[in-house]
Amino acid sequence: MEYMGGVLMRAFGIPCPDGIVLDVSDNFAAREFALAALSFPCVLKAQVEAGGRGKAGGVQTASSLAEARMKLDQIFGLTIKNLPVKKVYIVPKVEIAHELYLSVMLDRDRRCPVLIFSRFGGMDIEQVAVRNPGDVQKIEIDPLIGLQPYHVAYVASKTGLEPELLKPLQDVAARLYRMFCERDTMLVEINPLVKTGQGGLMALDAKVVVDDSALTRQPEVGAFRSSLDEDLLTVEARACRFLYIPLEPDGRVAVMSNGSGMIMSCMDLISKQSVKVGAALDLGGGATSDRVAEGIRIVFKNPEISVLFINIFGGITRCDEIAGGIAAALEKLPSSVALIVRMEGTNKEKGLEILDRFRSAVTVVDNIREGVAATVEKAGKV
Ligand code: GDP
Ligand code: MN
Repeated sequence: MEYMGGVLMRAFGIPCPDGIVLDVSDNFAAREFALAALSFPCVLKAQVEAGGRGKAGGVQTASSLAEARMKLDQIFGLTIKNLPVKKVYIVPKVEIAHELYLSVMLDRDRRCPVLIFSRFGGMDIEQVAVRNPGDVQKIEIDPLIGLQPYHVAYVASKTGLEPELLKPLQDVAARLYRMFCERDTMLVEINPLVKTGQGGLMALDAKVVVDDSALTRQPEVGAFRSSLDEDLLTVEARACRFLYIPLEPDGRVAVMSNGSGMIMSCMDLISKQSVKVGAALDLGGGATSDRVAEGIRIVFKNPEISVLFINIFGGITRCDEIAGGIAAALEKLPSSVALIVRMEGTNKEKGLEILDRFRSAVTVVDNIREGVAATVEKAGKV
């Protein structure tokens, strides 16, 4: 969320307004105490994991305590892009002379970071890029050389930035690039970066996308991550090092496989039959029976799910391990659930033997198409 971006940016010396965060669950006294310390005018900003808050009424100014109270209640009542507002960030209002856009992102096609700058920041940067592509300038950064002042001078001159802003922009960009590298991010975006009434630059909104794989060495970012209210099962699955993807909220079918390609083919084939897939879980390579049992347990924690298609192509993964895990999981599952299992590869026969005991709950199939057909049929029955 934005205020977290603020904390990260401040640590790298990027100027941004210092604010307070109020939670919807704060009691009356705590809220009044925080409001009493405000100076006016101030800006109240909904903290949700989505852009376009301004347009949704999630960014409002207040010039008195009474107005702040009223706007706060209003914003807490909002749902922006399906996300209820649970936190509001309140910052001193900055006099804006001009709104700019600045970001550093990892460009996978070019295989390097790129600096993106526009003199026309604010709420509609995507439309600026479509309407006047020349107003949004990009430059590749050689990771071995790093961001240099001339990169910034280049994009600034291309977009016709006023010369007195060049030095401050070079300074902010250098700090942003350091943050991009040191925090293992894939995107750091400031929009708007504003020219203030005093003529300096200030970051009024930030978006930071962190590489999940780097969270182990980014404890500060990890702490922010765990405080976001994500889907609980996703969090639990991540703690078990599974990739769990919640899909259609009312889907009754889940797919489990060892590899995202297979998961996607299963999902595609099932969806083609107009059956909604509720969740997918990737076991990863070399899954042991314990991990399989754990994965199945997590999938069925979602009460909507009653059919699970397990599609395993055993190479490193051994089919008898998978079957052992299925057997262990079944002992703890209600009899109403249906499992469809397709296993191929190492120790297949041994695996099938283990599953033989569970004929009422488990349908064994030979290939993905049969599996999809059986899954669709079971889904129709429940
Ligand atoms: P977004 O719509 O979710 O991207 O939210 P932003 O934080 O970018 O806010 C939207 C717009 O509100 C900005 O583009 C600014 O025009 C305005 N805004 C936000 N903070 C301030 C502030 O401190 N002062 C003033 N004057 N305007 C602000
Ligand atoms: Mn913004």
